[in-house]
Amino acid sequence: MMNIIEAASLKKLNTFGMDVSADYLSEVNSPEEIQQVLEFRDKKNIPLFILGGGSNILFSRNIHELVLLNRLKGIEIVDENSNHVWVQASAGENWHQFVQYCINNDWGGIENLSLIPGNVGASPMQNIGAYGVEIKDVFHSLEAVNLSDGKTKEFSAKECSFGYRESVFKQEEKGKWLITKVNYKLTKDNHILKTGYGAITSELEAMNVKKPSIQSISEAVIRIRRSKLPNPEEIGNAGSFFKNPVVDISVMQQIQSQYADVVNYPAGENQVKLAAGWLIEKAGWKGYRKGDAGVHKNQALVLVNYGHSAGNEISDLADQIIEDIENKFGVKLEKEVNIY
Ligand code: FAD
Ligand code: NAP
Repeated sequence: MMNIIEAASLKKLNTFGMDVSADYLSEVNSPEEIQQVLEFRDKKNIPLFILGGGSNILFSRNIHELVLLNRLKGIEIVDENSNHVWVQASAGENWHQFVQYCINNDWGGIENLSLIPGNVGASPMQNIGAYGVEIKDVFHSLEAVNLSDGKTKEFSAKECSFGYRESVFKQEEKGKWLITKVNYKLTKDNHILKTGYGAITSELEAMNVKKPSIQSISEAVIRIRRSKLPNPEEIGNAGSFFKNPVVDISVMQQIQSQYADVVNYPAGENQVKLAAGWLIEKAGWKGYRKGDAGVHKNQALVLVNYGHSAGNEISDLADQIIEDIENKFGVKLEKEVNIY
C-alpha cells in the first residue's frame, strides 16, 4: 500500500543538496502504487512531480506538488540471439549498478556510460551521453504511464525523438509521462568498443591494457571520472550545467581569429560543437565563487553548491555566465539541468 509523507525534506534526494521540501512525497515500488498515487493526486487536485535520482535537477523553490519517487525495481532478459540480448530494466534501478550488471554478464554497449549518477528511468529523458556513446545507440523501446489517464504506452526510439541531450520527454511531452521500464539492445559478442574519445586511450595505456574490453573501458571511464568530476556526496552539483553549443562554422572561425585554441568538434554539415567548459574557462569563470554558489575549480562546466547555496543563487550565477559568454563569444549557452 502506498505511503504518503507530508512536508517531506528533499535535501538528500537531490545531488545539489538543495534544502527544499515537498508538500507530499510518495515512494512508488509497484504498478499498483502508481495507480494509487494518481488517485491521491486526483483527490487532492495537485500536480505530480516525478523524481528519480535527483542528479539532473536544481530546486529553486519548495515543491508544492506531489513528488512521486520512482523506486520500481527489476532487470530481465526479454529476448536474445547469438549476437544480441534485449534487456529490460525498471526505471528505479540505479543506472551505474545496471551498467555494472551488464558488464558482469559481458553485455556490451553502455560501458562508456559508467558512473553516471541517477536512475534507469531518466536515461532516455536527456538521452544521456558520455565519451562518444549516447543511450539512443543501444535504446530499443520504453514503457511509460500516461499521467493523465494512468494507461501504459510503449515508445519506440523514433517516438522518443532523441537529440543531443534531448528527447520528446524534455520537449512537447514534458511532465506528461512516468517512464517505468526501458529496453536496451546490447551485444553479447563482437562488442563495438569506443576508445577514441577524450582521455580513454591514454587511461587504458596508463592501466597497461593492451587489448581493451568492455570491462577495461568501464574501469578507464570510472578512473577518469573520479579524477575529474566533483563527487556529489562531497560537493553538491548536477554534472554539466550547460550543453555544449552546436554553432555554424563561421561563428567558430570568428572566435578562432581571437583564440586559436578554441576547442571544437565536427557536428554535421557546416556546424561544429564547441566545448562549453572551454568557453566558460576562457571567460575567467573557472573557480569563481560567490557565497556558496560556484564554478568548479577543475571543470568549469559544473556549477557547485559549497554547502548552503539556494537554488536561485546557482541559477542566477548560470544566467550571469550565459550573458557573459554571449557578450564575449556571440554564443548563447543553454542550461542542461532541469530547474524547478
Ligand atoms: P532526476 O534528476 O531525478 O530527473 C531528471 C528529470 O527527469 C526531471 O525532470 C524528472 O522529473 C524527470 N524524470 C526522472 N525520472 C523519470 C521517469 N522515470 N519518468 C519520467 N520523468 C522522469 N548526464 C549525462 O548525460 N552524461 C554524463 O556523463 C553525466 N554525468 C554526470 C555527473 C555527475 C557528477 C552528475 C551529478 C550528473 C551527471 N549527469 C550526466 C546528469 C545526470 O546524472 C543524468 O541526466 C541522469 O540521467 C539523471 O537521472 P536521475 O534519475 O537523477 O534524474
Ligand atoms: P572532456 O573529455 O574534457 O571533453 C570536453 C568536451 O569536448 C566534452 O564535453 C565532449 O563533448 C567534447 N569531446 C571530447 N572529445 C571529443 C571527441 N572525440 N568527439 C566529440 N566531442 C568530444 O570532457 P569531460 O568534461 O571530461 O567529460 C567527459 C564525458 O563525460 C563527455 O562526453 C561529457 O559529455 C560527459 N559528462 C557529462 C556530464 C553531464 O552532466 N552531462 C557530466 C560530466 C561528464 P560531449 O559532452 O558532447 O561528449
